[in-house]
Amino acid sequence: MSNRTFTMIKPDAVRGGNIGNILQMINAAGFKIVAMKYTKLSLEQAGKFYEVHNARPFYGELTEFMSGGPIVAAILEKENAVADFRKLIGATNPAQAEEGTIRKKYAASVGENAVHGSDSDENAKIEGDFFFNGLERP
Ligand code: GDP
Repeated sequence: MSNRTFTMIKPDAVRGGNIGNILQMINAAGFKIVAMKYTKLSLEQAGKFYEVHNARPFYGELTEFMSGGPIVAAILEKENAVADFRKLIGATNPAQAEEGTIRKKYAASVGENAVHGSDSDENAKIEGDFFFNGLERP
């Protein structure tokens, strides 16, 4: 079990002025930020990041949304990071997300759902490597 996960604050939440609120929830839940950057994905980069979903009907919508504005990408550290962070962000569809979760508070829809959280240790590593080189990730 790894103690790191990867997150993005998605364009809807950045646009809504919620970077600070979301980082505060992340910190309050006991996660330490070990790498972070404010950036914007091209359509091609978003397509690559979400390649596993390329056969899904929402792939075009997803990659356009994710490249449509700036995001914050970060690597987070905590014991049991992947599972605990999935719990903190809540269900993919905010209508089904539990009270107190980030998506319940800040997400508007299943597509524009405020935050990303890795779904496995393996993907946390792949996704962190997608955004951060060794120097940027102490
Ligand atoms: P996650 O692991 O909770 O982020 O959910 P998934 O891995 O199933 O989907 C990845 C991302 O694709 C979600 O966070 C949404 O941004 C997007 N997504 C999932 N389902 C839909 C959908 O039905 N419509 C749209 N437009 N986007 C979706």
